[in-house]
Amino acid sequence: MRRRGPDVLAPDDPRHGEPAGYKAGCTCDACYKANKAYEVQRSRLLACGQWRPWVDADEVRAHIRGLAQHNIGWKQVAHLAGLNESSLRQILHGRKGKPPVRRCHRKTAEAILSVRPTLDNLPDSSTVNSTGTVRRLRALVALGWPMHHLGNMLPSRSDHIHRLIRYPTPTVTVGLARAVRDLYEQLSMTVPPDTWMRRRTRAFAAQQGWVPPLAWDDADIDDPQATPQVGEPVDVDEVAVEQRLSGRRIHLTDRELTAAVALGFARGMSRTAIAEALHISHDRVCELAGLPTRAERRRRRSRTGTTCPSPDPARSDVAA
Ligand SMILES: [Zn+2]
Repeated sequence: MRRRGPDVLAPDDPRHGEPAGYKAGCTCDACYKANKAYEVQRSRLLACGQWRPWVDADEVRAHIRGLAQHNIGWKQVAHLAGLNESSLRQILHGRKGKPPVRRCHRKTAEAILSVRPTLDNLPDSSTVNSTGTVRRLRALVALGWPMHHLGNMLPSRSDHIHRLIRYPTPTVTVGLARAVRDLYEQLSMTVPPDTWMRRRTRAFAAQQGWVPPLAWDDADIDDPQATPQVGEPVDVDEVAVEQRLSGRRIHLTDRELTAAVALGFARGMSRTAIAEALHISHDRVCELAGLPTRAERRRRRSRTGTTCPSPDPARSDVAA
């Protein structure tokens, strides 16, 4: 007679809380309840002729062998599936000189089939498709993180990272893919400090057509078939705009200069104040804001003999 009691299984035995725990002799609360629930379910399904607890073990074996090709051994599969090693040994090799089982329990099969190779359970040295890794690196470059900086923060050699970003190989090691994924999580929501290097890095990425992190869904970034969501090209450097508006002589593109003028108006600055802050002429401010210049207003006034309404009368510094 098999020994029964609440301490038959080791405390960390994965069978606790499963009918298998109860069958192995454990009478702890969790095992007892799991077995009870199983029996209730079983009799209900038996009553309506739908009791099919067994499935073909071939598919399960094929799955375990597939995982082995990714260097996930069967003992590791047992661990990841929360199963006892002996269950997998029986499925793969049989027991006590008998051939491997033809059928296995549905729950066991489901637990094994749910084990998938992911970056977190693959060994560092195996290789995976490089798509997600390259997209993440390029997205960080598009954000303005210089390639040498990324190279220094990764376990691979910096020149290897450079080459990978510019001329991707079809696969990368799991160790690198995982490191890039973690670095991306850390940096993808941070804009690097405003330096000429950032501007140059961004310009280079834009030239190459590399898109920033916001263009990718986390769910899609590893999918080779997915395409980035690019709306209007975002080529306004908001930090540079802000700094130029506070008086610093930073080079801005026309688009950024337009954004700086709009920001000035939004903050209630007068045209003269904006012109002074940005070191441009009053007329240029009007031009960028799509407003008539002083000369144009004078011309219109003399033609119509009326006053042209100012779009921002409260703040207008132009004498009517
Ligand atoms: Zn138990």
